[in-house]
Amino acid sequence: MAKTVLVVGGGIGGTMTANSLVSKLYEEICGDKVRVVLLTDTPWHHYKPAWMYVAFDMFFEGELKRRLRPLLRPEIELRIAKVDGFDFAASRVTTAQGERIDYDYMVVSTGCLPAPERIEGLEEAGDYFYRYEPARRLAEKLRTIEKGRILITVSFPKTPNVPHQCGIAPIETTLMLDEFLRRRGVRDGIEIAYTYPTVSQLLRNCLFLQRETCEVLPSIFDTRGIKHQRRFTLDKVDPDAGIAYSEEGAAENFDILMCTPPIRAVDAVIDSGASRAVDNEGWLPTDRATLQLEDHPNVYVMGDTADLPISKAGGSCHNQSPVITNNIAGDLRLGRTVDVYDGKVQAVAQMGLEAGMPLWYDYDEDVHPTPPTKLGGLLRKGFNRGIYWSVARALV
Ligand SMILES: Cc1cc2nc3c(=O)[nH]c(=O)nc-3n(C[C@H](O)[C@H](O)[C@H](O)COP(=O)(O)OP(=O)(O)OC[C@H]3O[C@@H](n4cnc5c(N)ncnc54)[C@H](O)[C@@H]3O)c2cc1C
Repeated sequence: MAKTVLVVGGGIGGTMTANSLVSKLYEEICGDKVRVVLLTDTPWHHYKPAWMYVAFDMFFEGELKRRLRPLLRPEIELRIAKVDGFDFAASRVTTAQGERIDYDYMVVSTGCLPAPERIEGLEEAGDYFYRYEPARRLAEKLRTIEKGRILITVSFPKTPNVPHQCGIAPIETTLMLDEFLRRRGVRDGIEIAYTYPTVSQLLRNCLFLQRETCEVLPSIFDTRGIKHQRRFTLDKVDPDAGIAYSEEGAAENFDILMCTPPIRAVDAVIDSGASRAVDNEGWLPTDRATLQLEDHPNVYVMGDTADLPISKAGGSCHNQSPVITNNIAGDLRLGRTVDVYDGKVQAVAQMGLEAGMPLWYDYDEDVHPTPPTKLGGLLRKGFNRGIYWSVARALV
């Protein structure tokens, strides 16, 4: 009987991994020894980073999503159903329709969800770009604001060493905001205040996660007249008064509160009971080298669901996917894993509306920031509009 490799989640991690498993295991698949099944809860694939462009009217919904089936190699069995139970001990998942699916190997790539409800007043008063509809609502506010104060806040997971989604996104959007308001001719009447929490976890009391970036960021913000404040851990928000309070005792007023909200794993992952993350955040305990789920070596975890100390980013999935593929192939053919993940993440940061900055880092080495350039901006545009879809197909 063919062995089943089940991939759960049709976002960037799951899509590229299902495709690369077919390339790697082609012989076994043609010989009916292996089948690759992708199980996900929607027939659509979203290019999620484009949601931040939605907030600046640069992308519409139809441009950032595609049907999943044509992105997949024909050998992949695609099943659309929501997983509502993971039984790692029995190597089985159950779906919301009551179906049971057994597997020999599983890859979990179910992502994470914004959870603004975890901070008092944030759901009512906060605007964010980490989903399509909230980004659209934010776009309407940014399109019409004439004067006032835009406050930027960043909330980290409470689990130590687990960063917020896409480490660079709050900086990218702050710089995009500055340029967007200048283009509109209203920047002089609007104060932009960027804040960052005390627990930035890898490095304390900075404006970003990593040392070198922290060193260059204040001067970039200063030249653009962007106020910045460290040690602002969002505690609660008073929506009526338009005031955000920090755990450190500060109060900041706002007309628009552009936030990076708390995040959590999806319900089925939290309910699996396998997580040891604090505050019921649900991150799965993942071996930082092999990417296997702790105590369950036939399960691999990737992307936003993992408890790894690296950015929850597509650029992380891009480097985790080949490791997982190699390790499943190694186990099938040799009875052991053969590859290790070094924490590598790469991206092209959007530094304003036109410029871009390529960056990469890993477990041991931080980002070395370079001056943003228009060439970098062109690279980012190329990624947004084309290269991404080749990455999803596991061609790049
Ligand atoms: C605004 C924004 C900007 C970003 N910018 C960047 C960037 O510039 N560079 C970068 O590298 N990354 C960026 N990211 C992060 C990147 O999008 C994520 O890290 C990446 O999508 C994570 O991939 P994933 O496969 O783990 O999860 P996802 O892509 O979220 O996919 C999860 C999939 O699982 C499915 N699913 C969920 N629950 C279930 C269930 N119970 N049963 C079945 N299926 C389920 C979902 O429908 C989805 O298809 C950004 C994200 C956002 C929101």
